[in-house]
Amino acid sequence: MPGDSSAGGRLNVLWLQSGGCGGCSMSLLGSKAGDLHRTLAGAGVELLWHPSLSEASGAEALEVWRACADGRTRLDVLCLEGAVLRGPAGTGRFHLAAGTGEPMMAWVRRLAARARQVVAVGTCAAFGGMSSGGGNPADACGLQYEGDAPGGLLGAEWRAPDGLPVVNVAGCPPHPDWMVETLVALGMGALGPADLDRLGRPRAYADQLVHHGCPRNEYYEFKASAHRPSDLGCLMENMGCKATQAHADCNTRLWNGSGSCLRGGFACIDCTAPGFEEPGHPFAATPKVAGIPIALPIDMPKAWFVALAALSKSATPRRVRENAVADHPLVPPGIRTAGRK
Ligand code: SF4
Ligand code: SF4
Repeated sequence: MPGDSSAGGRLNVLWLQSGGCGGCSMSLLGSKAGDLHRTLAGAGVELLWHPSLSEASGAEALEVWRACADGRTRLDVLCLEGAVLRGPAGTGRFHLAAGTGEPMMAWVRRLAARARQVVAVGTCAAFGGMSSGGGNPADACGLQYEGDAPGGLLGAEWRAPDGLPVVNVAGCPPHPDWMVETLVALGMGALGPADLDRLGRPRAYADQLVHHGCPRNEYYEFKASAHRPSDLGCLMENMGCKATQAHADCNTRLWNGSGSCLRGGFACIDCTAPGFEEPGHPFAATPKVAGIPIALPIDMPKAWFVALAALSKSATPRRVRENAVADHPLVPPGIRTAGRK
């Protein structure tokens, strides 16, 4: 059978889904390599079973789970997409694994104990995400976090045999290449504790800010801000953009080869962070005190931001100021006719 422990040399991956929307898997299909199966196979990744990508279902699928759980098949990586549903009253019975009568929560615990690595795919599995929003009647949590508090299903102290905590490929959904690269890095033995940030996210993408590479950067520099969704200006001051605080490389590693939330006209809502699902204000609005956004760019003291913003605004060229509040460039760049180097 696929993934038999005699196969050796392959990274046996089992992918389960629980309390989520399935969007992480849909995102995975957008991997830039195009043929996902070929990419994974080329990297030595054996997808033992995935609820959407595998043909096996019913008893055949459950046999794959059982073989992993009782050690007949070597389980290298357990991926969970979607939050763990612990309700009602800690029984986990809000999500029974079909055909087993057992809560998915129990399967995840059992399989995590067998796995060489555990990967939380998406912000739901990492921190609870959208599934834990509102009153959280399902008692949803992440594998090793509940919001930004360590804990979750497996507990703060849980470690894989090689010392790695749960690898949190956070994002709602994560970029397909964050997922593929994480699996490939695990297969190569190239992901150690130092390659994860404080929240367990792979630093390969989490050491960047979404702000990096945004096409609206010139507007940001001059604090030339959009007032309506269709405006070209920077979305930070009025439209809720949190990209200056959001850890991800969405504007330098584009989606589907060309896109990002910002390029589509949407503010970054910091979906790789715990608690993003409940910012306490509308996603497309910027909360302010005395006209100054409450959430300022990371690493920047407030006094500096205020001083620089005032200076920038006073120096804004007419082109940038007028284009910022238009849905297409109205004022073209000037053409220099003298003083060329
Ligand atoms: S992280 Fe987002 S895309 Fe993934 S399952 Fe949760 S809600 Fe869906
Ligand atoms: S819109 Fe957001 S990402 Fe783009 S420049 Fe402004 S703050 Fe940065």
